[in-house]
Amino acid sequence: MSNISIVPISATNNWECPECGGTGSIDEEICPICLGATWINSSDAAEWLLNFMQSSGGHAAEIEQLRKETPDSLILALCLGICSAIKAA
Ligand SMILES: [Zn+2]
Repeated sequence: MSNISIVPISATNNWECPECGGTGSIDEEICPICLGATWINSSDAAEWLLNFMQSSGGHAAEIEQLRKETPDSLILALCLGICSAIKAA
């Protein structure tokens, strides 16, 4: 059983984990989002973003609509940056 594939890290598919800020841990616990990897992939990043929007009081219907769409990586990067800044504030 050696079917473990190594996923190449690229700028477009992997994002610094917004939950822990790329440190891999929160309050000395392993980050529940990236599980200590310090980065997450695009779909996980989009998921985090939508959950963050929801917890920030975003409209559920709009968020459900966004869930059905695959966000552009540039928009994703922008939104993640903004949400990370809000979260850190
Ligand atoms: Zn993390």
